[in-house]
Amino acid sequence: MGGNSVLLEKQVNVDKKPIVTWEDPAVALGTTRHEFGEYGGINMSIEASATFTVMEPKTMHKLFTGELGPSQDFFIYSRHFNPTVMNLSRQIAALEGTEAAYCTSSGMAAISSVLLQICNTGGHVVASSRLYGGTHALLSHFLPRVCNITTNFVDVRDHEMVKEALVKGRTKVLFLESMTNPTLTVANIPELCRIAHDKGVKVVVDNTFAPMVLSPARLGADVVVHSLTKYISGGADIIAGAVCGPASLVSSMMDLHQGALMLLGPTMNAKVAFELSERIPHLGLRMTEHCHRALVFATRMKKLGLKVIYPGLEEHPDHTLLKSMANQNYGFGGILCVDMETEEKADELMNRLQNYTQFGMMAVSLGYYETLMSCSGSSTSSEMNEEEKKMAGISQGLVRMSIGYNGTLEQKWSQFEKALVGLIYDGMVV
Ligand SMILES: *Cc1c(COP(=O)(O)O)cnc(C)c1O
Repeated sequence: MGGNSVLLEKQVNVDKKPIVTWEDPAVALGTTRHEFGEYGGINMSIEASATFTVMEPKTMHKLFTGELGPSQDFFIYSRHFNPTVMNLSRQIAALEGTEAAYCTSSGMAAISSVLLQICNTGGHVVASSRLYGGTHALLSHFLPRVCNITTNFVDVRDHEMVKEALVKGRTKVLFLESMTNPTLTVANIPELCRIAHDKGVKVVVDNTFAPMVLSPARLGADVVVHSLTKYISGGADIIAGAVCGPASLVSSMMDLHQGALMLLGPTMNAKVAFELSERIPHLGLRMTEHCHRALVFATRMKKLGLKVIYPGLEEHPDHTLLKSMANQNYGFGGILCVDMETEEKADELMNRLQNYTQFGMMAVSLGYYETLMSCSGSSTSSEMNEEEKKMAGISQGLVRMSIGYNGTLEQKWSQFEKALVGLIYDGMVV
């Protein structure tokens, strides 16, 4: 193996487990083992194999009894564990400060599998009424219909209501999002975890909107789920997800005969895992810039008299709470909303921002390097009726912006101003 063998030996001698730390996620990421390539390449090799061979027939038996497994570098089949997907999963576990993690083919796969695993014999879920549309539909329509898992939706800012909804012995999961779409309310994770744990209920938090910014597991959550499709990918080119939690949960989900991930099979491809693992090291830098620009733009938009929703602004009802929970130095999230009051004005603002000044693009999703804009009431929250939208604080003219970092901040701001001035000139905004 020539000159690289020393390097590879060094790699083998470093513990693969991330050190579960209460420090900054970037510090935790710095402790994950650097995986070198098969020939000493500075990037890991991609283990693009569906199946794995053994030297002796006896080894195969040991693999199926669990005597040998991925922790000793023995693999069976890539729907079970794949070495490249495991390497990415270790990075995600470090990012979220959990003992283990495993990556899936989508965020919805991660969410549905973990709910099925924890509620394995049917059961009750209490969930936030402000959830991603897909998760809301899964809990309100799909799970009750196919497997007797029922959900009560509550306003998780009302802790008394949460307490009442959780039924000791019956409720298995409290499900919520760390920062909600599109009105950017923030959940009091430590307090909600205390309430749930008192009743023996597990807390699952979707942290898709706030990687690096919030660490729900450090604040008490049992499980953290992600749509890696958004900020963690950052390229808007991949659909992927992850479940982060105790090693016992991950191994139960991978159980050959009982595991939700093993048996439902929402498997991540090794090539996708490699792609994503290359993007984790600059996630912190990207989040810092997304958050910085969102704060600057929100502040300036407010000064211009626009109705802005951004949890980094002191006037946002959850600003103090977010500040008390957030990891330092990243900011308050990369998404802001502007309330244009009517759909017509919202559409015209987005039209000009995209087609006249190139400030951003009309598209759903988030975490891309360009700014993405959508009118929530008629897009990602369109499955809600008028009453539900009103309750969730979604006006017809609410424009959600996932602030990008392409171009310079001042260049992008002048594109925003120019579009707004045009609107004012044409009498669309006064
Ligand atoms: C996008 C999203 C999901 C679903 O993730 P996919 O990767 O599209 O399956 C779940 N939760 C939140 C908060 C999201 O934004």
